[in-house]
Amino acid sequence: MLEKANGIVLRIIPFTNTSQVVTLLSESGNKMSFICKEACRPKSVFRGQYDFFYTCEFVYQYKPTRSMFFAKEVYPYDLRPYFRSNWRASHCASWLCALVNAVSIGGTPGLYRLLAESLDLLNSPSYPDVAILARFELKLLQQLGLLPNFELSCGCEFNSEAPYRFHIADGNLMCEMHEFKKTSFHEPSLIVNGAVIELAKQLIEGNMSISYTKDSMRKLLRLLGLFINYHIDGLPIAGRDTCITGLLG
Ligand SMILES: [Zn+2]
Repeated sequence: MLEKANGIVLRIIPFTNTSQVVTLLSESGNKMSFICKEACRPKSVFRGQYDFFYTCEFVYQYKPTRSMFFAKEVYPYDLRPYFRSNWRASHCASWLCALVNAVSIGGTPGLYRLLAESLDLLNSPSYPDVAILARFELKLLQQLGLLPNFELSCGCEFNSEAPYRFHIADGNLMCEMHEFKKTSFHEPSLIVNGAVIELAKQLIEGNMSISYTKDSMRKLLRLLGLFINYHIDGLPIAGRDTCITGLLG
């Protein structure tokens, strides 16, 4: 029985000397893997039909007992061409796809829309805005139910000028005054100022047209990197660091 699936190419790995396995995040938010037999041969029907960050349609043979399917034909819909010439944008897209590949849970169309939208924003000849990456990470954590609590857990009034301690294990924010009353000394945490938290909140609301200081963005990305690395296993986190260094200098 032949079936069709539309989605974004997350990963391509060799299967044999001439065949490849392509992992797709489908429109319905499921991760699917396809074996493309003989894809590396010069006259292969798959040649040029898929690549990283493409949106494609895969026609495949469905078998309920299989976790990987044999692809029969592939049609590219959106090639996102600027990724072939804009290496910074391409590096950023690689991190987004690696993150989705590490976390994706079944049946999350919202995750597909978030990835498609973020890749479309990055697919441009201009210098990529690092806010796209930060917003993507926050929104992804939100979809996974892992979003940190950016409200003060002690109930004090928030002040954008004040320093706060962010706890990485439970994602809670405490003011300096109440921090002294906490007795757990071994929890990983970091100090951030209120402006960083305000930036995070704006990005969660989906606001892309925000102005931010490099310093606040750098601190927010550090917070997110530590949080993501603590809560999600098996990530190529070093790739993220290189990507951010490339964008923020
Ligand atoms: Zn407090």
